[in-house]
Parts: sequence; structure tokens; C-alpha cells
Amino acid sequence: IDKDKIRNFSIVAHVDHGKSTLADRLLELTGVIKPGTEQTQVLDQLQVERERGITVKAVTASLNYTYENKTYLLNLIDTPGHVDFSNEVVRSVTACQGVILLVDANEGVQAQTVAVHSLAKRNNMTIIPTLNKIDLPRADPDKVKTQLKSLFNFDPETVMSISAKKGWGVKELLEAIIKRIPPPPVSSDGHFRAHIIDTWHDKYRGVLCLAYIHSGKIQIGQAVKWLSETKQQTVKSLALLRPKEEPIDEATAGQVVMVGCGPKGGGSVGDQLLSTDYPLKEISTSTNHVKHMVYAGIFPADQSQHTLLSDAIKKLALNDSAVSMHPDSSPALGQGWRVGFLGLLHLDVFTQRLLQEYKAEAILTAPSVPYKVKVKGAKIIKQYKGDEVIITNPLLLPDPNNIEEYYEPFVIGTIITPVEYIGPVTTLCLDRRGSPLPTSAVDDKNTLMQFILPLSEIVVDFHDTLKSITSGFASFDYQDHGFHPSALARMDILLNGVLVEELSTIVHVSRLEYNARRLTEKLKEMIPRQMVQVAIQAVVGGKVYARETLKAYRKDVTAKLYGGDVTRRKKLLKQQAEGKKKMRSVANIKIPRNTFIDVLKR
Ligand code: GDP
Ligand code: MG
Repeated sequence: IDKDKIRNFSIVAHVDHGKSTLADRLLELTGVIKPGTEQTQVLDQLQVERERGITVKAVTASLNYTYENKTYLLNLIDTPGHVDFSNEVVRSVTACQGVILLVDANEGVQAQTVAVHSLAKRNNMTIIPTLNKIDLPRADPDKVKTQLKSLFNFDPETVMSISAKKGWGVKELLEAIIKRIPPPPVSSDGHFRAHIIDTWHDKYRGVLCLAYIHSGKIQIGQAVKWLSETKQQTVKSLALLRPKEEPIDEATAGQVVMVGCGPKGGGSVGDQLLSTDYPLKEISTSTNHVKHMVYAGIFPADQSQHTLLSDAIKKLALNDSAVSMHPDSSPALGQGWRVGFLGLLHLDVFTQRLLQEYKAEAILTAPSVPYKVKVKGAKIIKQYKGDEVIITNPLLLPDPNNIEEYYEPFVIGTIITPVEYIGPVTTLCLDRRGSPLPTSAVDDKNTLMQFILPLSEIVVDFHDTLKSITSGFASFDYQDHGFHPSALARMDILLNGVLVEELSTIVHVSRLEYNARRLTEKLKEMIPRQMVQVAIQAVVGGKVYARETLKAYRKDVTAKLYGGDVTRRKKLLKQQAEGKKKMRSVANIKIPRNTFIDVLKR
């Protein structure tokens, strides 16, 4: 196919502004699915996506569309809508020359609209500003056009208006894609080179890759090699995704195709697939570095499931290149992994997928953000190569006597809110140790506010709190602002004097007392009564900040049955035994596994 007839684009928007619905309409208009079929949100293939109504994985669809007697190949790359998944967005934009910036004509520009707009801008992409949901009676296209003009300087004349739900204006939008977005700047001459933007695992065919072809051609049976290794491979599978696989024999520069090199053929996101004679010195290997914002330990529900969980995590990590994994072990939980995520939703979705797609049950420890310390006399502590160390596990924080300076990660938070909530939003952000930046007007009723905030203060429940104090009207997004000096300490939890390693946290000194009280109270609530009395203490460097006592109690589920029905009694005992399996034992104290993840939520 002639590259001038290729358009690679994606749809970006704030969550719920209609990306998936628009994708469905585009698939209908190009004949991929029949209009009015039951099957909606075709691109949201994962169960977790359908349940949560969010798009997690970027999925592509190649569409044919005939315009002015020429047939174009339009490659739509659907992108996830949540901040946690912005690396998926970043990855897919590398293959795109343009985006449809979708804005709900009723809600107007939201925080994430600002974020995805600046991402597209930074990557020099053609942006087609598009109002969606114009069928809604309360839609106010003129107001939103004014917002787009004042925030991003879009000429109102260039703004498209559609209803993805009703299909209004979608044909015009398809034509705007062809007219406004340039064809990929590539050449089909020369050596073959493709860049991997996504991978997933197939039971029979091994790793399958979504590849964007930068130059040359690729054919089934062709000899190729990965940039990352010298071994030669053979192209075993080649297909267009429509989004169902449509096998092809050959593909050329500018196309986005599925490639597989067989069960041992390899492939990972960011790697490049090359013709065997590709001149390697011409390749620049700048990789897009993923920044992990939240770390947590993942452990099998019991050690007999270690291999099962290990296989599942590896497969899932292949499909979700944003996670990082290191082996970890805990006295209470056994062998597991310390896993880095982009955010809490990412962590949640990852574990839900483990369960749904791989049937692996996992225990999660309390999540934490990475901290950094500068250690005194770095040479003394041999394990630290430099004098600055990133701490992803609170237990690995060096002795305070050896620490010269502590740092914690900060972000710039962007909030768009109706003006009447400026007060409560400011209070919330100051309460979370935020410092305000200048605000700007979105329109006469809405303001864009920005704060520099410690990441640790927003990863857990900031978004929910913001939503509830603004009756759901404020939107929030954040971007990394690097590490800044801070005053920190490690807080430990002791049960009858024994350290529960999984519950240690790094805390800002201004929060010590508050957190100590909250943690001990919550643990008292969450840990069931035991045969012995349990002292719950929050301790910092030997000093007790809070203490709670859990009274002894013997739970006998059959007590009220007076020895009556034997089967009933057996059943109850069995249930109790199963309940116990879900417990972890520390110093003979049984702790429900949920404690490890729930206790640190506010
Ligand atoms: P996404 O999160 O951006 O993928 O958004 P979805 O496509 O899942 O849409 C979110 C909600 O908005 C769904 O309930 C859709 O039915 C609804 N929606 C999407 N487009 C339109 C539209 O043009 N008009 C109306 N009335 N509702 C729409
Ligand atoms: Mg969606």
C-alpha cells in the first residue's frame, strides 16, 4: 500500500468523554462491525475493562475507508483514559501522526484533556479538536469551543462536532482525519525496521507484537533479528488487526501490523525488529523510560501456588510493560515479588487481571511511593553504589544516623473545578502539603488550578476526596515533578512486640502522630480477636507513637448449635478452616490478608 493512503491516529480524551463509543462508530462506518449489533466497545476486550468501563490496554484497529474514489488504510490506536496508564498513551503516540482530541460538550475541558493535549503537542502531532455528545440537551458546544480557544488556542472554525452515540458527524470526522492528518513520514525503500508498541502472549504462537514499520517491507517467512539480540528469527505470523486478525503476506513502511516470530521468537515493547542486514550504527536507542510511582509486594495466597503465580505475573508483565518486578521475600508471606506500578489504579487493575485472566490469587502488601536518600560516607555502606539511593521498600531505608538528606517525589497536580469549589479544593491541597501555583480561567464558571504536591499524599485517595468535596465536578491529573528534600521517618508496626515487616511505612514527620493513631486504630478494627491479648503499637526509632489493645476472644462458630445437626456442624468447621487459610500469621497472631492492602487506605 502507498504510504500516502495511510493515516495513523488515536483518540485521546478525559475518561468517559466517549473514546470507546467513537471507536465503535468508526468500526461500523468502515464495515468492521454491523451497526446496531449488541457487541459494543469492541476495543475494550479485557474483562476488567468492561467491568470498570475504562480502557486499560491500547488496542489497534486497521480500517479501510474510501474517500473521493481512493481507498485509505486508517489505523486507529485506542488509548487508555487514565493517568495511571499514560505510558500506554505515550507508547501509542510514537506510531501516530495525529490525534482526535475528544471533549464532552456537556462537561467541557477536564484536567486530563489538558494533559493529553500537551502530550500530543509535545510530540508534534496534528490535533483534531472534537466535541462529543452534542445530542445531550445540556451540551453547550459554544462554551466548550471558547474553552478550547482560551486554553489551547484552537480556532472555533476547526472544531468538529459529533455524537458518537448517535453517529452524528462521524463520517465528516473520518474525512477530516484523511484531510488533516499527514501520512506517516516513512519510506518503503531500504532496510526493514519496525518498532514494537505492544506485545501480548498467545498460547500457541508465543509472543505476538504490535509493530509500527518505520522503513522497508516485511514478508511472512522473512529472516529478521531483534535489536536487543543477535540471534536470527523468522517472521511466522503477520496480520492486520481489524481488530480481529486478518493474515497478510506482506506489509510496508507506515503500517501498524501484528508480527510474531514463533514460540521462541521473542519480542518486547520498545525493542526494534530489523532486517538481518540492517546497518546497526544508524539506530538511535533512546528508550522511553517508565517511571514507577507506586510499589507493592505481591505474594502467592499460599506457597504451593508460587509457580502458578510466577507464570501468571510473567505473562501479564509481558502484556503490561509498565510494571517492574524484582523477587522479594517476607517472613510472613513467603517468596514473592516487589512490583513497581504507575499508580494505584494500575496496581488494582494488574491484580484484578491476575485473578480474571490467569486465575492466580495474590496477596498485596501496602503500597508505597519511592523515596530517595543521600547517605553519609557512602563508602561505609557498600551495597549503595552512589551516595543517593532510591528506596522502594520501607524496610530497606538505611539507619537514620547514616542519612544526610531525605527526598520524596512530588508532582504537579492540575485541577479543573467550578469556581465555587476553589475554597475547599485549596484547603484539601494545602492539607495534603501542597503549594499553590498560579491559576487560570477556563471560562467564566471554571478555573484551572495547579499545585505542587507530594506524590505520597495523592496516590491513595486524593482523587476520590476531590470528587466528593466538589460533588463530582472537579477533575484531576498529575505529572511528575521529580524528587525534593523532605523530612521523613520510618514507622513500624509491632504486634506483641514483633515487627510486622509488611506494615512498615515511610512517613513525613508532620504526619507521625496522626498516622500512628490511624494505623493502630484501623488494625484493631481489622484484626479479628485472637486467643491471646494483642498489643498493637506504632513505633518510630524506638519511640511508641500510639498503642491499641485487642482483647482475647475464642471464636467458636459451632457454639450455638448445641451439638445438634452433624452435617451442619461439619460444614461450619470447614468454613472456619477455609477462613483461616486466608489468614497470615505473625507471632502467632492471625492477620487477614486484606489487612495488608486495606490498612493504609485512608
Ligand atoms: P471513554 O471512557 O472515553 O471510552 O468513554 P465511553 O465511550 O465508554 O463513553 C462513556 C459514556 O458516555 C458511555 O455511557 C457512553 O454511552 C456515553 N457516550 C459516549 N458518546 C456519547 C454521545 O455522543 N452522546 C451521549 N449521549 N452519550 C455518549
Ligand atoms: Mg473507553
